[in-house]
Amino acid sequence: MDVTYRNTMVPGVDDDNVPPPVGIGVGQRFMTKDALVMHLKDYCISRHVQFRVHKSGPTVYSVRCTGDQCPWHVYASCSMKLNMWKVRRCNDEHTCLNVELRMDNRLCTSSVICNLIMPNVRTSFTLSPYEIIQLVKDKYHIQVVRGRSPMCIISDRHSGIIRAVRDVFPRPHRHRFCIRHIIANLNKRYSVQDLNKMVWRCARAETVAQYNHEMQILKEVCSGAKAELTEDMSPE
Ligand SMILES: [Zn+2]
Repeated sequence: MDVTYRNTMVPGVDDDNVPPPVGIGVGQRFMTKDALVMHLKDYCISRHVQFRVHKSGPTVYSVRCTGDQCPWHVYASCSMKLNMWKVRRCNDEHTCLNVELRMDNRLCTSSVICNLIMPNVRTSFTLSPYEIIQLVKDKYHIQVVRGRSPMCIISDRHSGIIRAVRDVFPRPHRHRFCIRHIIANLNKRYSVQDLNKMVWRCARAETVAQYNHEMQILKEVCSGAKAELTEDMSPE
């Protein structure tokens, strides 16, 4: 594939209206480091190659192919002026035998799977484990292997995700709710000043005593939110 992508604007992870580009090339831009990493994983999984992180910092991110002596690499850095990530150097040619069709790819992590299934889960309340495995298979041509090393999946409290995660990734995988989503959902139901701050304090508590103290404050200000946080928080 000899396509060079120039001046391609890639949406951040929160913007799911614009379709992501395919491929990788010098000049390609990403709104966030997360968007860059997710794109690299997506691209490499679909090409059945794997990369290892060579450098990762607040302004630099570079990866190389795990293949023996393979020159494939991508070097990206963050432009402080534009607050945007840009691919500066890149060799998209593999000399490794990546054609060996891997039905399993360690880059295909829970976050990649979540990103992939999220739009479907939002429109369909009944996404079955089989359908999730099928989605991953259709997109990346790899098989989700059940029962691999433990993963922690963080999601909002959508019933479809809860059920699907429980069925596709049974223990020892853990499913926890993202506090940002929990707060967003609480804000829809309660218009209480500083509710965000109070819930964050509960979430950040490092001791049981501190947690109980913060929960007590929350209870006094918004008993409904406190009740929701304490009842059935575990999706498992
Ligand atoms: Zn390679």
